[in-house]
Amino acid sequence: MSYQVLYRKWRSRTFGEISGQPHVTTTLRHALASGRLGHAYLFTGPRGTGKTSCARLLAKAVNCREPRDGEPCNVCALCRGIDSGAVMDVIEIDAASNNGVDNIRDLREETSFLPAQGKFRVYIIDEVHMLSAGAFNALLKTLEEPPEYVIFILATTEVHKLPATVLSRCQRFDFHRISAEDIAARLRFIAEQEQFTLEAEAALLLARIADGAMRDALSLLDRCRVETDTVTAAHVARCIGMADRHYLFALTDACLSGDIPAALALVQTLYQDACDMERLCEDLLFHLRNLLVLLVVKSPRELVVCTEEDFTLYKTQAGKSSAAQLLGFMERLEAAAGSLRRSSDKRMEMEIALIRLCAAAEIKDGAREAKPQAPPKEDAKPSAPKPPAQTTGGVLHAFPQWESVLTALQTANPPLAGILAGSSAVTRDGFVLIKSENPAFPMFIKQSAQANSLKDAIANATGQSLRLGIFRPENEAPPKDPLAQLAEKAAELGN
Ligand SMILES: [Zn+2]
Repeated sequence: MSYQVLYRKWRSRTFGEISGQPHVTTTLRHALASGRLGHAYLFTGPRGTGKTSCARLLAKAVNCREPRDGEPCNVCALCRGIDSGAVMDVIEIDAASNNGVDNIRDLREETSFLPAQGKFRVYIIDEVHMLSAGAFNALLKTLEEPPEYVIFILATTEVHKLPATVLSRCQRFDFHRISAEDIAARLRFIAEQEQFTLEAEAALLLARIADGAMRDALSLLDRCRVETDTVTAAHVARCIGMADRHYLFALTDACLSGDIPAALALVQTLYQDACDMERLCEDLLFHLRNLLVLLVVKSPRELVVCTEEDFTLYKTQAGKSSAAQLLGFMERLEAAAGSLRRSSDKRMEMEIALIRLCAAAEIKDGAREAKPQAPPKEDAKPSAPKPPAQTTGGVLHAFPQWESVLTALQTANPPLAGILAGSSAVTRDGFVLIKSENPAFPMFIKQSAQANSLKDAIANATGQSLRLGIFRPENEAPPKDPLAQLAEKAAELGN
C-alpha cells in the first residue's frame, strides 16, 4: 500500500472538521440547511487555512443526495463521485495556469449545459486574482446572469487584486490564520488516529512554525514522524533545522561582550563545517529579532517560535542586552547581508560584520549620555530598503480604518500587530502616516516584507493602495539623524 501524506488522508470531510473558521462554516451550514444558496462565493485568506477544503465541501453538500444539517453525507453516489473526481459537475480551475480570456469564454459556454448527475454545476476557481483583465470581464458577464444551476466559488490569497465589480457580485468569506492551539489539537487528534505519539510541546511547536496554515503543519508532521514513533519538541527542532542553535547564542554572546576573538573562532568552526555564510547572517538576524521581541513585546511567547528550553535561553540572553544594542546590531547585519550577496569572499565579509558588531557593543551603557553618532560611511547599505519618508505639505486627514487594519494584522501578522499596539495613523496626499511610540517600529517598517504586509492590510481595509510614512508632529524640526533618534528612544526603553 502506498503511503498517503497526512494532508490528503486527513482532508476535512465535514464542515465540523474544518479547524479555526467557525464564522465561515456555521454560516455555510445554515445556508445549506435552509436552501438559501448564492451563485457566487468568494473565499479569501492566507494559504493553508481551509479555503479549498471548504469549497469542495460546499460542492459536495449542494449535490449530496442525503445531506444532514448542511453537511454532506460522504456515502451517497454523488459524494463519493465528487471525492474520486468521477462526477463532472464539479470543476476545479487553477487560475494561475488558466488565466486567459479564452479559458473563461470556454467556461461560459459550458455553463449553458445542465448538470449531468448532480443538482448544481460548481466551478471552483483557485487563485482567482491571477486572471487577466479580459478574463475578469468575461467572468463578470457570467456572474451577472448566472444560470440557476451554476455556483461559482472563487478562492484567493490576494483579495485586493480583484476588481470591485467582481467583489460586489460575491458573498465574501474571510478565512483567518488558524490559532496555534487549534492546529496543535488537530495534529494530536490525527497522531492518535494514526497511532503514533506526538508530545504536546512538539504539537505546539509545529503549529507555531506553520504560522496558521494547517496544510504546512501536516506536511511538517509528515517529515518529523518518518524516523520515529514518538515525536518530541527536540525532534521537531532537529528535523526542521532549528537544532544546533547554540552557536547563534554563542555568537550573540561574543558580540554583546565585544569579544572579537571568540566571534572569529566561531566563524572559523562554522566555516569548516561548511556552514553557508549568507544563511548564518540571516539566522543571526532572526535570532536578534527574537531577542528584540522579548524586550519590546509584553507577551512574547506566541511570537518567538522555539522550544521551551530555547525560550528560557532567549530570556536569559535578552536580559543581557538592550533594544538599542540589538537594533544597532540588526542595522549592521542587514547591511552585511547586502555585501555578502555580492562578495566573492563571504567568510571575510561575515568576519568584518561581526567585528563591527563587537565594536558597537558598548552602545548599551553609553547610549543615553554619549552623543549618538551617524553610522560610518562604509556602513552604507545599498540593498536595504530605504526608510519610508514623510511627505511634506498637504492637509492631514483622520484615518478611521486604522483600528480595523490593526485588528486584521492580529491574525495576518502578529509580530507587526504587537509592534503597532497603541499606535495611531492619519493620511496625507496618498500616504498613511503612522504614529508609534514603539522604538522597534521604524526598524520593522523598513523591512520590505513588513511594509508590504501592512500595505496589504491597508489595501484590504480601504480598497486603496496607499504609501507608508512615519508621523512626526507638524512643527517639530526634522531630526538631524533618524538613527541617532531611534537609538535614543530605544535606550530609554532598554534601560
Ligand atoms: Zn452525499
